[in-house]
Amino acid sequence: MRIGVPKEIKIHESRVGLTPAAVRELVAHGHHVMVQKNAGIQIDLSDDKYRSAGAEIVETPQEIYANADLIVKVKEPQASELPLLRQGQVLFTYLHLAPDPVQTKALMNSGCIAIAYETVTDSFGGLPLLAPMSEVAGRMAIQAGAHALELDQGGRGMLLGGVSGVPAARVVVIGGGVVGTNAARIAMGVEAHVTVLDKSIHRLQQLDFQYGSKINTVFSTVDALEEHVSTADLVIGAVLVPGGAAPKLVSREMVSRMNRGAVLVDVAIDQGGCFETSKPTTLANPIFTVDGVVHYCVSNMPGAVARTSTFALNNATLPFVLALANKGYRKALTDDVHLRNGLNVYQGRLTYEAVARDLGLSY
Ligand code: NAD
Repeated sequence: MRIGVPKEIKIHESRVGLTPAAVRELVAHGHHVMVQKNAGIQIDLSDDKYRSAGAEIVETPQEIYANADLIVKVKEPQASELPLLRQGQVLFTYLHLAPDPVQTKALMNSGCIAIAYETVTDSFGGLPLLAPMSEVAGRMAIQAGAHALELDQGGRGMLLGGVSGVPAARVVVIGGGVVGTNAARIAMGVEAHVTVLDKSIHRLQQLDFQYGSKINTVFSTVDALEEHVSTADLVIGAVLVPGGAAPKLVSREMVSRMNRGAVLVDVAIDQGGCFETSKPTTLANPIFTVDGVVHYCVSNMPGAVARTSTFALNNATLPFVLALANKGYRKALTDDVHLRNGLNVYQGRLTYEAVARDLGLSY
């Protein structure tokens, strides 16, 4: 199979769809891999490393999209890429279609087969291709929140862990899944006061059992959210309804009652965000303020640590890329219900119910 890896063009995105090690695996299985020139240059994955792994280096995205049967990317195709997709071409990447009707319609019009990393499942009920980036984003959320709490960023001028004689900051994490657990873990590591809210009692039990008295677990209700968000110094939004838009759990009114200089990090912004006041920002310009509350709403946080993220992502995606390449998409999708759960658009049809529901389209 001919596999294409375009250079990512989303602002400040330096991750790459395949590492040289992944290319080598594919080439060893008899596939032809085209990598766009300088695709990995920013994270020290030079064209020479890709050549040594057996890739063909090509100059332009047009050459990749015109010749590849399977496109392996990181972020959703941008406006200039969407018209390059072809009928019957397989696109394997993060898509996040629920809040994005323009991209959804363009993918449908292209006739491509679009498989979204974020809705591929595993036999433990998890999302194995979202998980590595969620680990990264969860850990980064505390780093980003700590920076935003600094006075010159508009924050309260607080150190997360406090110091002797001065209390630690109150960190509230909404959603105790992969992002939330990783955020809580780093926040505990810097000795902040950590509370996790989730609507899954099972998840709260696991967190309580794992971290004991270092963490407060709270069942998520409107009452509990109001109580904990209003007194928080840093709130991390980390909820997920798989494939669907994030529920708006923190209203504008709740935000207006928070302390001036408190910080909201909306990691769920890639699914529309869970704070009513959120709007997507970029790594180049990550924060804005509403009612004196600093918002960090970067939709591609792992892009800031692109090297770690690329390797983590490839560890998870490679088995699926190999299955698609070795078997062809029809057999790979038929054989594996978990990969099939990633199918969002199939040759003009929307095939993911939660996306259709959120966009008011037929499924
Ligand atoms: P996950 O499925 O592991 O965890 C989500 C948790 O949210 C679950 O424990 C679930 O019970 C909980 N939840 C759902 N609805 C809730 C509600 N109403 N109240 C309280 N809890 C609720 O998901 P994850 O991997 O941790 O991902 C979380 C979010 O972060 C997703 O939207 C994901 O797309 C996003 N994400 C963003 C970036 C970024 O760069 N911004 C990177 C990675 C992941």
